[in-house]
Amino acid sequence: SETINKIAAGEVVERPASVVKELVENAIDAHATAITVEIKDGGTSLIRVTDNGSGIEKDDIPLAFLRHSTSKIRTADDLYVIASLGFRGEALSSIASVAQVELVTKTASDLTGIRCCVEGGKQTVLEEVGCPGGTTMIVRNLFYNTPARRKFLKSDMTEAGYVNDLIMRLALSHPEISFKFINNRQNKIHTAGNMQLKDIIYNIYGRDITANLLEVNRRSSTMEISGYIGKPLISRGNRAYENYFINGRYIKSPVITKAIEEAYKNFVMVHKYPFTAFHLQMDTSLMDVNVHPTKMEVRFNQGEEVYQLVYRTIREALEGRNL
Ligand code: ADP
Ligand code: MG
Repeated sequence: SETINKIAAGEVVERPASVVKELVENAIDAHATAITVEIKDGGTSLIRVTDNGSGIEKDDIPLAFLRHSTSKIRTADDLYVIASLGFRGEALSSIASVAQVELVTKTASDLTGIRCCVEGGKQTVLEEVGCPGGTTMIVRNLFYNTPARRKFLKSDMTEAGYVNDLIMRLALSHPEISFKFINNRQNKIHTAGNMQLKDIIYNIYGRDITANLLEVNRRSSTMEISGYIGKPLISRGNRAYENYFINGRYIKSPVITKAIEEAYKNFVMVHKYPFTAFHLQMDTSLMDVNVHPTKMEVRFNQGEEVYQLVYRTIREALEGRNL
């Protein structure tokens, strides 16, 4: 099963940024209000994610590292009404099979915390420690036992850049959470928590973008869109500025990307791709996030309704009139 875990890890853990994504999503699911991500050497030698969330019960610690073990889903039907970010129970077991993992955690009701180390999928340390409430996950020497995979990583700077982009999007999708990102001991991102989406955009992208936003807000029969889009003068040569979130989750959807880019057609832009940062809220039964292990892609039951809502909302805002 170590082999199976290593294979599964290939789907969940592609690079340091995928580890950070899984660990931060776990922190969000644990209702953390402050999350610190620290990496060294692009995340290859060290990734540390600290949260002030619920912590993990002592008895649940061995389970957390078991494949397909999750505390977030109880019946097969739950799979279709997923609200939490994680639910496959694959992340920690996958990460632990390709790196050295240290976990320090304490629940609010426990007086002492637990420190636990896992290497090659096997627990090597389990002891009581004093620590604050919440969870710290430390991932060292990613892919130390899978050199072929390590070879596919880009330079430390590029890998750190991927992590930076990820934290930016996570901060955008959760203005209520305080995020801190430290790269090689340097503070890169710090958001205060309890913020409005517009404040986060300012914090992350600065004054030029924030001064050129249009607010969007619209409902259809089964979904709602709200957030900001950039005036056509804000654009990029790639899709780095196209952010959208569904039920709080950063995702990729060809349907939404197409709706955005079609809506900006015929507007003069410096580059091809616009700035967007908006949220879509819909019943979880209308979508399927179960397409890929990294949960980045989503499929809609009502693709046409999603397309129309996004397209019309943006078009209307850009033209400054009701369509
Ligand atoms: P999933 O998120 O799909 O449930 P994971 O492998 O990511 O699976 O995590 C396994 C379990 O470990 C989670 O279901 C959760 O109970 C626990 N866990 C992991 N990280 C944290 C955290 N930061 N705070 C609290 N519990 C956590
Ligand atoms: Mg998870």
